[in-house]
Amino acid sequence: MSDSYDVIVIGAGPGGYVCAIRAAQLGMKVACVEKRATLGGTCLNIGCIPSKALLQSSEEFEHAAHALKDHGVLVEGVKLDLARMQARKDEVVSANVKGVEFLFRKNKVTWLKGTGRIAAPGKVEVDGTAYEARHIVIATGSDSMTLPGVAVDEKRIISSTGGLALDKVPGHLVVIGGGAIGLELGSVWRRLGARVTVVEFFERIVPTMDGEISKAFERILARQGMKFRLGMKLTGARTDGDGVTLTIEPAKGGAAEVLQADVVLVSIGRRPYTDGIGLAEVGVELDERGRVKTDAHFATNVPGIHAIGDVIAGPMLAHKAEDEGVALAEFLAGQAGHVNYGAIPGVVYTWPEVAAVGQTEEELKDAGIAYNVGKFPFTANGRARAMGATDGFVKLLAYQATDRLLGAHIVGPDAGTLIAELTTAMEFGASAEDVARTCHAHPSLSEAVKEAALAVAGRALHI
Ligand SMILES: Cc1cc2nc3c(=O)[nH]c(=O)nc-3n(C[C@H](O)[C@H](O)[C@H](O)COP(=O)(O)OP(=O)(O)OC[C@H]3O[C@@H](n4cnc5c(N)ncnc54)[C@H](O)[C@@H]3O)c2cc1C
Repeated sequence: MSDSYDVIVIGAGPGGYVCAIRAAQLGMKVACVEKRATLGGTCLNIGCIPSKALLQSSEEFEHAAHALKDHGVLVEGVKLDLARMQARKDEVVSANVKGVEFLFRKNKVTWLKGTGRIAAPGKVEVDGTAYEARHIVIATGSDSMTLPGVAVDEKRIISSTGGLALDKVPGHLVVIGGGAIGLELGSVWRRLGARVTVVEFFERIVPTMDGEISKAFERILARQGMKFRLGMKLTGARTDGDGVTLTIEPAKGGAAEVLQADVVLVSIGRRPYTDGIGLAEVGVELDERGRVKTDAHFATNVPGIHAIGDVIAGPMLAHKAEDEGVALAEFLAGQAGHVNYGAIPGVVYTWPEVAAVGQTEEELKDAGIAYNVGKFPFTANGRARAMGATDGFVKLLAYQATDRLLGAHIVGPDAGTLIAELTTAMEFGASAEDVARTCHAHPSLSEAVKEAALAVAGRALHI
């Protein structure tokens, strides 16, 4: 029967589309429901991919305008063509989302276009048409969180989606929230000429990352011209004329202040998206934070209904969603899927980048775990010097008793790529010595990783 499937996935973000492809590879008959006009979800349409396209373009602009002369490359009259930059971003997105369509065709995954709702276990309705499925996967992702009393109009008061689509560089951009998304978009608009102020509730930016890394990162961004108002919360935002008047207050209490902005970006986090999919009606349980509750096999409390990605617990990251999609498809095929939540890297794609995997020093202290630290700065790395990119350092944390790597934290050039080696090392239960004794090409940024690993045993060579 054409309207009956082994698996129906609701949502074609990186969790959903990857789950659909893997399930199809494993021989199942699969459909994926997506209400957006294009596949790829938040990540490809309004998240990871467009933000990285703008980060790349704005970095090229800043390099051409300011950094190239240091290399003896003189470029006169560098000008911004924002319309072209935005058009290029749209082209990048379009190529990526079409790529997912191609993969669906290649793997014979049916795209059910429209809004999906679970009518009953084993039954999904897409804009009124009923389909049957042995397994239903909720992969509906997440949406930007808003603040009470702060009305997002995507023009003056914007979410990350508006922050990717501005057609004019704001004079003063105030970013509410010093997490990855706010700092990435803040960097884009600062590089293009905006004055940027970041208001953060906690006393430090990227509050979930290692404290020492977060402080160093803040200093680097401040040197680039970003202003920080830490330990402050937004209490009101009013659009007036051409701008926005903001009231901020110390998070711990104190006198309110007024800030004037041309545009305000609200990037205080994302909420699981469970609207209108019939969860209450079929009795799927949510947790205290509104996320779909699942067990270790991504099963909800209702037999035959599973969930993955941003809509369940864990870091809201595309690669976490993808890995869950693969593991779930393998469980459904009777195989042994697996996601190691202790080795999921997180990256902030600013310049320099920040990347981390495993535990922070604060987490180890709180858990009472005895550890050794090894650090190595990029100022002492030959390749970083040649690149003119010496900001930052590598920091490794290893068990004192066994030397097994527990955490890796990098602020520096290409940190997002360098972290892959350490993620692999941790996945294999490697010790710092294992990394230190691995031959690393010279001259490469990865030598800073090797030196940090040597430093865990107090024997770095180049410092
Ligand atoms: C600006 C920004 C930058 C980001 N950068 C990064 C990054 O660099 N790296 C990273 O790892 N993560 C990044 N993220 C986070 C990343 O986008 C998410 O973690 C990821 O998209 C989650 O994937 P998902 O499949 O769970 O859900 P989503 O990608 O949110 O996809 C869910 C899909 O479900 C669809 N849907 C929802 N309800 C229904 C329904 N009832 N019927 C049909 N379809 C439905 C939605 O339209 C959507 O397309 C970024 C996010 C943003 C906003």
